[in-house]
Parts: sequence; C-alpha cells; structure tokens
Amino acid sequence: MEAVRTYFRDIWKALSSIAVGLNVTIRHLVRPAVTIQYPDVKLKMPERARNRLYVNIDDCIGCDQCALACPVDCITIETIKATPDQDLGVTSTGHKKRLHVPRFDIDIAKCCYCGLCVYPCPTECIVMTDVYEFSEFDRHNLIYQFSAMKPDQIDDAKAKLKKAEEEAAAKKAAAAAAAEEKKKSEQSKQG
Ligand code: SF4
Ligand code: SF4
Repeated sequence: MEAVRTYFRDIWKALSSIAVGLNVTIRHLVRPAVTIQYPDVKLKMPERARNRLYVNIDDCIGCDQCALACPVDCITIETIKATPDQDLGVTSTGHKKRLHVPRFDIDIAKCCYCGLCVYPCPTECIVMTDVYEFSEFDRHNLIYQFSAMKPDQIDDAKAKLKKAEEEAAAKKAAAAAAAEEKKKSEQSKQG
C-alpha cells in the first residue's frame, strides 16, 4: 500500500514541477519584450548623449580652446593668421574670423567622450552627435579631418602671411632707420 502511495506522490510532484515551469514560460510569452531588434530598430539617444564629435568648420575661429581642454590631446589644430587684406567673415554666432584653419583633426580612437571640448567653444561649433556606429577596420580612418582648406589655399595663405610679415618688418626697419637718422641730424645741429 505504501508503495502505491509513493508512486502517486511522485506523479503529483512531477506534474506540479511541470506546472511551475509552464507558468513561468507562459508568463514570459505574454509579457511585452524588453529588448529591441537592433540594428533594424534603434533606441533614440538621450538629449545629452556623448557620441561622435562633429565640427562645423565654417564657424570655427581657430581659438584652440577645445584642444586645450582635451585631456587626451586628441584634437590637433593648426592656424594661419589672415592678412589685413583678407576678410574671412564672421561665424553664425557673430565672431569675427581672423585665422585660417588649415588643420582640424580629431583622433576619435583616443577620445574618451568626456565632452570637455564642447563647453569652452565660443562659437558652439564642436558638438556631440547621436552617431555611435562608426567602427573601422583601419584605425587611421578614425582620424577625422574637418578642415575645408585645399593644399593650394594653404600655400597661398602661408605665402600671403609671409609677405605681409616681411613688409611689416621692412616698414619697421625703415622707421627705425629714419628715427636714427633724425636723431643723428638733431645731434649734429646741436653740436
Ligand atoms: S570628448 Fe573629451 S577626449 Fe574627446 S575630443 Fe573632446 S575633450 Fe577630447
Ligand atoms: S573651441 Fe570652437 S572655435 Fe575654438 S578652435 Fe575649437 S572648435 Fe574652433
């Protein structure tokens, strides 16, 4: 008799165990999914998400504030002073542009997405975008070059600056020579 009782108790235990498992399965079947079908479906980034950087080079005044703020030195900026006869215009924020920017590179492979370069920019032209898919096979492709200047434009800007500096130096030397001459003639008159 005891053997029969044990037999039916085991059957009951097995059925209860199956029922508990099925209960869990059925509950998950009807529960809404918490995952998404990435990459076909993408979540909207939060407003202040920090992802790939973008520079609107038309608004850059070459002030170097962003590069100075970067803790990992991944921003490289080179500038050439505009000569007085060159009008580089103003930015959309009303800042006068006085420097050419022949080089503005960001090595995004080094970037730690701290956002420290974004805040000091006086013209708000360096921004974090919502782009987070930019993997590359070659890490050199992760150096983003934002300058819009062509090699001949860079050479031209350098040549103009050199000429302007030489002319300014010549004018300064001529003025100094004239002053010296004047001083000598005054001394000879007095003597
Ligand atoms: S986000 Fe941070 S690490 Fe990246 S470029 Fe800007 S300052 Fe440098
Ligand atoms: S802080 Fe802004 S304006 Fe100045 S160099 Fe950087 S991006 Fe250009």
